[in-house]
Amino acid sequence: MARINDHYLKLRASYLFSETGRRTREYQAAHPDAKLIRLGIGDVTRPLPEAVISAMHEAVDEMAKPETFRGYPPETGWDFLVDAIIRHDYGERGIKLTADEIVVSDGAKSDTGNIQEIFGPDCIVALSDPVYPAYLDVTVMGGRAGNADAGGRYDRIVYLPCTAENNFQPRIPDRPVDLIFLCYPNNPTGAVLTRVALKTWIDFARERGAVILYDAAYEAYIRDAAIPHSIYEIEGAREVAIEFRSFSKTAGFTGTRCAYTVVPKELQGRSAAGEPVSINALWVRRQSTKFNGVAYVIQRAAAATYTSEGRKQVTALVDYYMENARILREGLEAAGLTVYGARNAPYIWVKTSGRLSSWDFFDKLLHEAHVVGTPGAGFGPSGEGYFRLTAFGGRAATEEAVDRIKTRLAR
Ligand code: PLP
Repeated sequence: MARINDHYLKLRASYLFSETGRRTREYQAAHPDAKLIRLGIGDVTRPLPEAVISAMHEAVDEMAKPETFRGYPPETGWDFLVDAIIRHDYGERGIKLTADEIVVSDGAKSDTGNIQEIFGPDCIVALSDPVYPAYLDVTVMGGRAGNADAGGRYDRIVYLPCTAENNFQPRIPDRPVDLIFLCYPNNPTGAVLTRVALKTWIDFARERGAVILYDAAYEAYIRDAAIPHSIYEIEGAREVAIEFRSFSKTAGFTGTRCAYTVVPKELQGRSAAGEPVSINALWVRRQSTKFNGVAYVIQRAAAATYTSEGRKQVTALVDYYMENARILREGLEAAGLTVYGARNAPYIWVKTSGRLSSWDFFDKLLHEAHVVGTPGAGFGPSGEGYFRLTAFGGRAATEEAVDRIKTRLAR
């Protein structure tokens, strides 16, 4: 029998969404008349923007004719998409990037996971707690997590607790770390990082030779003009940071799949011999060996989000979800709950009422209001006592959820 990667055996069962799913199904089976509203999983619900759909139709027609048919895409993305990214997502914010610093992919989930492969197995990884669960699992799979204790904490990971006590801002680690996952706007807490806070992280990474893995999948949701959308808005970031972006939550591409990763030329790691090595070159090599690029039709669809019509439609989509976020935030506050996030992010992070645990609050909301959310404890130990709702539902369902929480939730 072939030897397996034993690190996979250290993964904790993907308990969170299977357990919320199980409890929801059981409740529904016992109460078939209950109309459940699902504001748990972070998937979008609105259709793709019209500009995206017509670009896809046109691209499909091109694929039908010999003279316009395209085969394998360029490994790091078609020029028309890469140029639009550079011009709009970065150029308009005064950030200069070159085409060979952008690598188009099928998702920020794959990129934030696969990126660890180009770093040494001994790298120490820092993660916020609570955290987007995929960062933790890829760290375990890659053998960088060590062993878990009874509470599920791995002994080689440096955890950065984020709770109301520190305003959901991770503290700079007091130990050496090599790879730091930062996600802003944050899933699950909805928190953002100020320019000053981000600068502190960049200075720390520069001093310690660490690399920041900056997941900006939700940057389009930032409303506060003072909050940076890209880590490259901050001086020094090009030497220490990789940025991940996605069309998933911006333009509804969760099922269409397109994203990109920025790896600046200045960013370097070191070999076992202590020689500097370009991280950009390693990532391009990794992607061109293991990934054959995003479909032409999908890249045309993504590029359509940068046309003037596309931009208006994407803005309308994000505005729609942010209005849901406002409805949830104000409604839950009116219901007497303490809430965080939802101002610059599509996530609302609720303090559970009456000192209930995250899972007890999940059950209470399910049983009394027929609303399904996600227990904060599922995102890490520091998520205990919190609960996540998403703004990605339909308007009527969001309003109805707020009404029910206001009227039915016994305080
Ligand atoms: N990063 C974060 C923080 C997310 O919350 C998600 C999806 O929920 C992703 C990445 C996944 O993005 P993609 O659909 O591009 O793989």
